[in-house]
Amino acid sequence: MTLNKTLLSKIFMRSAQPMVLTSSTGTVLALNDAFTDLTGYTSKDLVGKPPLAFNFKSRANQTYEDLEQALVDTGFWEGETLEKRIDGEAIPCWVKIERIDEKDDKSGSFLYLGSLKDLSDDKLVERNLYRASNYDLLTRIPNRNLFLDHLRKNTYDANINKGQFAIICLDLDQFKSINESYGMRVADDILLIVGDRLLRNFAENSQDKTFIARIGGNEFAIFVNNLYSKEEMFAYARQVQNVLAEPFNARGKPITLTCSCGVSHFPSSATDADELMRSAQHALSIAKESGNSSVVFYDHSMAKKAQEQMQISSGLRRAATNNEFELYIQPKFSSEKKLTSAEALLRWNDPVNGIIGPDKFIPILEESDLIHEVGQWVVDEACKLATKIHALGLKDFKIAVNISQKQFEAFDFYKNIMKVLSANGFDGDKLELELTESTIAQSPDFVAETLGRLRKAGISIAIDDFGTGFSSLASLSHFPLDTLKIDRAFIKGIGAGKNSENIISTIVAIAEALNLNIVAEGVETERQLKFVLNNNIDEIQGFYFSKPLPYQEFIDYISSLGFI
Ligand code: C2E
Ligand code: CA
Ligand code: CA
Repeated sequence: MTLNKTLLSKIFMRSAQPMVLTSSTGTVLALNDAFTDLTGYTSKDLVGKPPLAFNFKSRANQTYEDLEQALVDTGFWEGETLEKRIDGEAIPCWVKIERIDEKDDKSGSFLYLGSLKDLSDDKLVERNLYRASNYDLLTRIPNRNLFLDHLRKNTYDANINKGQFAIICLDLDQFKSINESYGMRVADDILLIVGDRLLRNFAENSQDKTFIARIGGNEFAIFVNNLYSKEEMFAYARQVQNVLAEPFNARGKPITLTCSCGVSHFPSSATDADELMRSAQHALSIAKESGNSSVVFYDHSMAKKAQEQMQISSGLRRAATNNEFELYIQPKFSSEKKLTSAEALLRWNDPVNGIIGPDKFIPILEESDLIHEVGQWVVDEACKLATKIHALGLKDFKIAVNISQKQFEAFDFYKNIMKVLSANGFDGDKLELELTESTIAQSPDFVAETLGRLRKAGISIAIDDFGTGFSSLASLSHFPLDTLKIDRAFIKGIGAGKNSENIISTIVAIAEALNLNIVAEGVETERQLKFVLNNNIDEIQGFYFSKPLPYQEFIDYISSLGFI
């Protein structure tokens, strides 16, 4: 059977594929039922008219001229377009146009067949996927992903146009406790309200294309264009805090919240999107540490410090296993200049950087749980060194070790001290623990009980850096204590006005009233020594006599003084 024109035109008309036949100039010659179904246009509306030229809207930045050129050059074009339905609705379509080797009877020009594929369903899926990966499901505002995209675009533009902008990362303070005390629904409601408030107050009607996202559990981020000075950025962040400080009404519960903010600025904080984000979050973590409602602006010293800390902290892990710690010993003398005891002070023998002092690494040990392990080693090593000194004939020699708050608060602290004593056969009478005022300012029952048990084992307790904290007289009299160590800062002030001297006399009076032993630390000069000796101080420690020394040097030193 040969296909005659009538048959072909029937096939054309009834095909399920939307098709349109045009002349070489785009004038519509025929369209089929499927085309009408898709677009709403009938033959009456379009035949004789060149609608493709008006309607052409490429989705790939191609122009109608590109299409015409392709048809002239190759007789073929295909691409994604937005077709318009008769009611104005846009339909995403994949369009193929092909020259067919038939000429129009009337004009004698070639015919072109356009076929369309409706992409709406695909687009819907695509759109949903896009939404799911770029928007937060709960608040329906952009998520971290989209925020980063936005940042990338804007850093690119700002690089070219010399633009400036800031990002503010904010975190709702104590959000966890809201979750715990009111439940997840209330917490979710609050997040919804926060997103909404931020949008209403900062993004809507903003001429600066302010962009807001939820970037994590209770973290939001705001992109603000055209902020130049630190003052402007702080003021903006404070405004954000004020907006969120208004009470929330979440499921009938009035709740007030505060938030902390970390701010970074393009280009002074960073010039790349990921780094900007990291720096704002770094600033935010510092803001969170420094307490509720802080605003911290990122500066480069923070990165340097963090890097240093990272290095130290990874080095410290190694130090603990490689025996890189060492105890130095600094002697204490009685007012008659007799050697009474010594303080053990920790040093880190870093194979790369040499000897590192404790101020650099104790805080990092405290942040990690390493303080327990290292602190236990310190007590053990101190007992071992003191045992050797006892064996040299100094039977009454006492060793003091520093105990950090975190170490003291561990539930097994007392037990661990006892373990060290029995493992070394060490007499508790020869051990002193130095605690700071802030350590004993925590839960008084626990402190009193632990100190009581230690005291029973013969161990004495000294309060270190005394005068810098806020110990109440009441707490001093309630706890079983032995010694107050006057902070070095007051000894330093001797001879420089009456202030420090008055404080020293007051501390001595308190110690006498409470029947406590009193130590002056940091005595460096003859003048300081005279002053403390005139003020009834029992023991003296400081560079005037000796710096903290490695064990063997300490032995050499005390033997040179004739103590052994
Ligand atoms: P601290 O307990 O107040 O120790 C006294 C500090 O003052 C020591 O510094 C010591 O070298 C220094 N010092 C002593 N006499 C003088 C003086 O006459 N002039 C001056 N300028 N300084 C003097 P170091 O050894 O650097 O220790 C610093 C801090 O590190 C200690 O302060 C203590 O809080 C902490 N620390 C040291 N070892 C340990 C330890 O094993 N565990 C814990 N938790 N902390 C420790
Ligand atoms: Ca100390
Ligand atoms: Ca001290």
